[in-house]
Amino acid sequence: MQAELIFTGTELLLGHILNTHAQYLGVMLSIMGIEVGLNTTVGDSREAMSRVLQQALGRSSDLIIITGGLGPTTDDITFEVVAEVLGLPLILDQESLKKIKRFFLDRGAIMPESNVKQAYFPRGAKILPNNVGTAPGAVLGFNNKTLIILPGPPNELIPMFEGAVATCLSKKVAGGEVIRYRIFKLTGISESAVQDLLKDMGGQDNPGIAYLAKPGEIQVRVSARGAVSAQVEKLLEDFAGKVRIRLEKHIFACDDDILEDLVGKLLLAKGLTIGVAESCTGGLIAARLTDIPGSSAYFKGGIVSYSNEMKNRILGVSMEILNSYGAVSKETAEAMAVGVRAAAGADLGLAVTGIAGPAGGTAAKPRGLVYIALAAGPITICREHHFPGIRMAVRQGTVNAALNMVRQYLLGKNS
Ligand code: ATP
Ligand code: MG
Repeated sequence: MQAELIFTGTELLLGHILNTHAQYLGVMLSIMGIEVGLNTTVGDSREAMSRVLQQALGRSSDLIIITGGLGPTTDDITFEVVAEVLGLPLILDQESLKKIKRFFLDRGAIMPESNVKQAYFPRGAKILPNNVGTAPGAVLGFNNKTLIILPGPPNELIPMFEGAVATCLSKKVAGGEVIRYRIFKLTGISESAVQDLLKDMGGQDNPGIAYLAKPGEIQVRVSARGAVSAQVEKLLEDFAGKVRIRLEKHIFACDDDILEDLVGKLLLAKGLTIGVAESCTGGLIAARLTDIPGSSAYFKGGIVSYSNEMKNRILGVSMEILNSYGAVSKETAEAMAVGVRAAAGADLGLAVTGIAGPAGGTAAKPRGLVYIALAAGPITICREHHFPGIRMAVRQGTVNAALNMVRQYLLGKNS
């Protein structure tokens, strides 16, 4: 099966936002065994969108996916353009209208008149419900081609794709074929190093491996396909098990796991509290921990101690340690962890100090060097990391590794 993708949105052309759908859909479709032959980005102009769609319909791809422009505003014209190009009328779907009204009522509001437009679809469309927002998507058949139209916001597109669209496509790909995935999320390793670790396992189609790099995180997506779900699951389990052994020491989460949520649940279950001292992450760890509703039950607070003076005065890291070993050292990280545990009155003290770059590195202490320490009970554990990539990658990698260190400790896996 051959696909082409059309991304709508003037903001994509102007570079105001990054086209992450191209990456996401590219990875997901390739895992499903669908070849993406062409991507087009087009602004919110009726003429340009019509032209791009007409050209796509004239090519040989079996599948055309269009994203964005399903909102209630006047620049959201995707369904109007699709209907016009295909020569179909737009029909009001009462069921969708009811759901959109309910969406507003559930939030204590009345649906604005402009949202009625989101309940109109080209005749014959199979409607894809949107459980997160107001814009449903749609699947349409036209001249042996399948058109799939999805909303722009990633938090709406992703669940719609992984739900109804994946089911619909897996039926089309190979007559009811089943596809299963396992996602391993890794930190502290570069994408090429991951590929090296798996070099004798990749390159095949089924089971297959795909990679997705984000700042401070590499996702390894393992997939298996087949006709019988029990066999596919077995194939996936066996293969994913082998992949996991190779990558184990870098894995911080799997599938839909949210690391800060896992940490929070473990702290709650054990009745423990935590405080954090951050240097190179500037508060990102505290932000991630407090992303979780109810985190006040276990998160006591955080201190961003960027200067030596703060490390000394607020966290009690001695000037001897700072002068002898430096701010980026095992000794400083350990003293910060002990210090913040006391300052926060918490059971656990987590601390990070490192060189995020681009400047500040030396031969002895290169960019990407980070120490992460955890003061827990009578012991303080410290790990040295070398994070690859740019400043943002070093910082995000540090957050993932630090939260994972707490998770491992709470699971009894740290020594
Ligand atoms: P809305 O109801 O929010 O208007 P929509 O379906 O009309 O949704 P757009 O208006 O095209 O979608 O995009 C809404 C937002 O979704 C964009 O501002 C952007 O933040 C995000 N978005 C859209 N397309 C992409 C894309 N290709 N990659 C990443 N983000 C995107
Ligand atoms: Mg819009």
